[in-house]
Amino acid sequence: MDPLDRDDDIPEIREGVRALCARFPGPYWRELDRERRYPEDFVRALTEAGYLACLIPEDYGGSGLPIAAAAAILEEIHGSGGNGAACHAQMYIMGTILRHGSEAQKRRWLPDIAAGRLRLQAFGVTEPTSGTDTLGLATTAVRSGGSYKVNGQKVWTSRAEHSDLMLLLARTTPKDKVKKKSEGLSVFVVDLRAALGKGLTIRPIRAMLNHATTEVFFDDLEVPAENLIGEEGRGFRYILDGMNAERILIAGECIGDARWFVEKARTYASERVVFGRPIGQNQGVQFPIARAYAQSEAAALMVRRAAALFDGGRPCGKEANMAKLLAAEASWAAAEACLQTHGGYGFAEEYDVERKFRETRLYQVAPISTNLILAYLAEHVLGLPRSY
Ligand SMILES: Cc1cc2nc3c(=O)[nH]c(=O)nc-3n(C[C@H](O)[C@H](O)[C@H](O)COP(=O)(O)OP(=O)(O)OC[C@H]3O[C@@H](n4cnc5c(N)ncnc54)[C@H](O)[C@@H]3O)c2cc1C
Repeated sequence: MDPLDRDDDIPEIREGVRALCARFPGPYWRELDRERRYPEDFVRALTEAGYLACLIPEDYGGSGLPIAAAAAILEEIHGSGGNGAACHAQMYIMGTILRHGSEAQKRRWLPDIAAGRLRLQAFGVTEPTSGTDTLGLATTAVRSGGSYKVNGQKVWTSRAEHSDLMLLLARTTPKDKVKKKSEGLSVFVVDLRAALGKGLTIRPIRAMLNHATTEVFFDDLEVPAENLIGEEGRGFRYILDGMNAERILIAGECIGDARWFVEKARTYASERVVFGRPIGQNQGVQFPIARAYAQSEAAALMVRRAAALFDGGRPCGKEANMAKLLAAEASWAAAEACLQTHGGYGFAEEYDVERKFRETRLYQVAPISTNLILAYLAEHVLGLPRSY
């Protein structure tokens, strides 16, 4: 039984991804997790199959699929027990170049990204001193002749060691010289290969999950002015534009996780016998699984709605945020039910439950924390006073 089988119109894509993921089963992810290694073979296979270029338009060598398809790809990866976080950013970061870059920039980067010759999967926004308060970031980029000099630090820049390019948000006009804090920030494409050792240092952060995340330091790093995306000073708007896509895709991953946990719990509860009967016969074991299933189904509907609005070019901020919130809560509820159902064995590495449990916990915090989504809904949807 597949309790969250989708009745959408992209079954071939789902089947293709499932078949690919079957080549990368639990032991593959377990070993990488243990050694905190990057899933190089998996990412290569996904790239070669074209899945990571699904949102790049055909004119630039991608397959120009809707975001609903991209979310389904990530959902299937997570539903198979894997993790798309190693490469999901490759799908949506390029959206900033696509929407706001010049034609020359699109021709320069997008076909190579689509073909898998270039990886753009590092996104440098978060900083140690500003955290959630993105507008308070302190990294500066100062124009000097034909380039910008970048100084500062990013933290939690995931995949920087496995990416050729990074999308960087930095302040180009000091805060006290702009009317609104959201002005004066700019977006750059940084060629990490050229920059390493020439003003750019990357330090890995060992984290609770295998996420290839890092700290990045800029010390008079020169970035050519031609790598500025769009207009100087409008970068925050460009980044915001991409956030709905990011939320919908991450919500897809959460639905996949929820689906994996529910199925894993259901199977174990049916097979594990104590007191002479399957533990799943006890309502105390059944109900959390059934509740998580219901939550996942409801959240999946919201993900589909947000994706449909996005694909129709309609406003979807409210739905994308709710999709991320509800899907992350569903995956966490399912994780908790699954771990509890497994009793002590949930803690054993070989069941993959503890790994997925750690992995799905992230979505309460990143890429946007639950509180900040609630604050968005309260202020921008319900019209309550701004709280921060
Ligand atoms: C594994 C991992 C990978 C990541 N990858 C990336 C990446 O690739 N690129 C990138 O730029 N960032 C990345 N991040 C950063 C992530 O987006 C931030 O951690 C997140 O936005 C929160 O910032 P912070 O950790 O500084 O928390 P803080 O801003 O210090 O917040 C701490 C807590 O306080 C709460 N809080 C803060 N302000 C308010 C408020 N006004 N109202 C209510 N609650 C509030 C938050 O919700 C949070 O729970 C990653 C993080 C992790 C852990």
